Amino acid sequence: MTLIAEDLASLQRPELVTELPGPKSREIHARREQAVPRGVGCALPIYIEHADGAWLTDVDGNRLLDLGSGIGVTTLGHTQPTVVAAAKAQLDRVSHTLFTVTPYENYVRLAERLAEHTPGTHAKKTFFVNSGAEAVENAVKIARAHTGKRVVAALDHAFHGRTSLTMAMNHRVAPYGTGFGPFAPDVQRVPNSYPLRDGLSGAEAAARTIEYLEQRIGAADLAAIIAEPIQGEGGFVVPAEGYLPALQEWATANDVVFIADEIQAGLGRTGTWFASELFGLVPDLVLTAKGIADGLPLAGVTGRAEIMDAAGPGGLGGTFGGNPVSIAAAHAVLDLLESGTPFAEAERIESALVSGLAELATRHEVIGDIRGHGAMIAFELVEPGSTTPLAGLATKIAAYAATRGVLLLTAGSFGNVVRFLPSLTVTNEQIAYALDVIGDALAQ
Ligand SMILES: *Cc1c(COP(=O)(O)O)cnc(C)c1O
Repeated sequence: MTLIAEDLASLQRPELVTELPGPKSREIHARREQAVPRGVGCALPIYIEHADGAWLTDVDGNRLLDLGSGIGVTTLGHTQPTVVAAAKAQLDRVSHTLFTVTPYENYVRLAERLAEHTPGTHAKKTFFVNSGAEAVENAVKIARAHTGKRVVAALDHAFHGRTSLTMAMNHRVAPYGTGFGPFAPDVQRVPNSYPLRDGLSGAEAAARTIEYLEQRIGAADLAAIIAEPIQGEGGFVVPAEGYLPALQEWATANDVVFIADEIQAGLGRTGTWFASELFGLVPDLVLTAKGIADGLPLAGVTGRAEIMDAAGPGGLGGTFGGNPVSIAAAHAVLDLLESGTPFAEAERIESALVSGLAELATRHEVIGDIRGHGAMIAFELVEPGSTTPLAGLATKIAAYAATRGVLLLTAGSFGNVVRFLPSLTVTNEQIAYALDVIGDALAQ
């Protein structure tokens, strides 16, 4: 099964025909500044006209190599042909009825498929909403209804969204929370496992997290712990071996719902169906969004049937949740994942990126850590010979890469991480080109 339209399969380098941003992008951007509030940020003011696989073509005709995939959304490539065909066909049949008014079968079938592919063989149920943050909010509602308890614990360096509840769960207050309080009550943050910075084993880090949970909250009031198996915005922080299963074990023993936020890491991105599998984690609830429909808006909450049924009829849902067009696209995504091709591609991308970055690190001591799995790889920049975060350089690398036609994302609570979230269509030659560009940026 191929992931990319044939006509671009041989293109290996960006094609730049104007300066960046080009004149048409600059003209649109000036209009945007009048029409769109500045709170809606803009990483790169280059306006996209169409996209295929790992390529973005802007309004000036420049072709850019996209290593961010709209933050891990178009995992199977932009305008993936079978996903587009499935969505178009559905659009011709029915685009909306509201599942809670008059339902449709493809929603039920997607719930069945997610039950099959999420970790664990227990009975599961799923419902759909529109965004990652909405999935997080609903998971917290369900955990509270199930346990009859109030508090939700999130981890340091976490990111869970921009709604009123989720912004209170994020590690970083700026830019997500500044000025937007008061914040939702009964949210607590506890230390995570961050091997580069804490040097703890998984068992030690879990013991520290649990100590905080018991001292600051107490199991009697704790409804849920939420964790990203690999943290996304926090800088692709990979927890030490054993950390997540130890937290799940404590949660199970204390009637606390364990929620895995797989919104960025899930659904093939890390070379497995879910990143939880990399750590032997079987969470109570699993959240999906970003990559689930390869670009169409959809998010899911999947979990233990007895927990999911805690909310009463009418308590869950929303007008657009589980839109049939997004659901049809998600089925095409799952079909591709079931073919196995994407997992092999994610592994190929991991080895190309990790070996290329390791080679760069031999020449550039500022690369203090290389981590991640599959097509979710990052490097963290530090003062040479220490773990002190080197702020500012990640943004400079991304800005330089953009001038060479390579779109890179940054991340990390200290702003010192460059992350790769390419589509699985990206070739080893394209990766090599991007690494050359990063090498040039570091040399400057
Ligand atoms: C993006 C993201 C969210 C929020 O999803 P939205 O669709 O932007 O609301 C939540 N959790 C994680 C881990 C994410 O990466």
